[in-house]
Amino acid sequence: MRESARLVSLTHAEVAKKIKPGVTTAELDQIAEDYIKKNNGTPSFKGYGPKNNPFPATLCISVNEQVVHGFPGTYSLKAGDIVSIDCGICKNGYHGDVAYTYIVEECSDEVMDLLQTTMHSLYDGIEKAVHGNKIGDISHAVQTRCESKGYGVVRDLVGHGLGKSLHESPSVPNYGRKGRGERLRSGMTLAIEPMITLGDFHVDTLDDGWTVVTADRLPAAHYEHDVVVREGEAEILSSFEYIEEITKISIDKVTA
Ligand code: MG
Ligand code: MG
Repeated sequence: MRESARLVSLTHAEVAKKIKPGVTTAELDQIAEDYIKKNNGTPSFKGYGPKNNPFPATLCISVNEQVVHGFPGTYSLKAGDIVSIDCGICKNGYHGDVAYTYIVEECSDEVMDLLQTTMHSLYDGIEKAVHGNKIGDISHAVQTRCESKGYGVVRDLVGHGLGKSLHESPSVPNYGRKGRGERLRSGMTLAIEPMITLGDFHVDTLDDGWTVVTADRLPAAHYEHDVVVREGEAEILSSFEYIEEITKISIDKVTA
């Protein structure tokens, strides 16, 4: 799982090199697919889902008001967009699953605060992913950080266990109550992934059956790490360092 989390993190960095105005989201998807295959992995998302409408691509690329599960296509990124990219890979029978919201050249202070808060809430959640805690402790930590800023916490989509399958139990909601839910045990592997909106938390799904957008069409952010529950402190298997070597922006550390 460590190797899978590393490959998916490195795949993000390959994509990050090409994120600039004018690139189409389909071009980014091709870069990811080629890189994953070159490194003996397979894309986890391509073909995932219902037989009559499987997800068609390697990356979920969700721009601005799109929250998750956007289709790569002919859209060209433009300065001021934010673009949430979610990538899943399978290598040696184990999945890695990482999401990161990128800034295309620039964004408003308002949107930067949304990104920073979402990132901080991810680490707040990870801090609670220790042996003996409950799932609700993670959920509550994410929710508290984001709602204290007035942001929306998406209810319809949640984090999850991760391993030989892309989505395993338990579910890891981004909202909930301390001390509730399944007990965390050392060695459990979780994908923790806050999906946070600038406005209201309600979402719609577009007619393609996949793309989730905010109901009020305000921007949304999404960050996801793969972690192992441990005694005392969670181990983070994935990394944003490769990405941030490319983007030269550490969203966790920028002060608005
Ligand atoms: Mg993901
Ligand atoms: Mg996930």
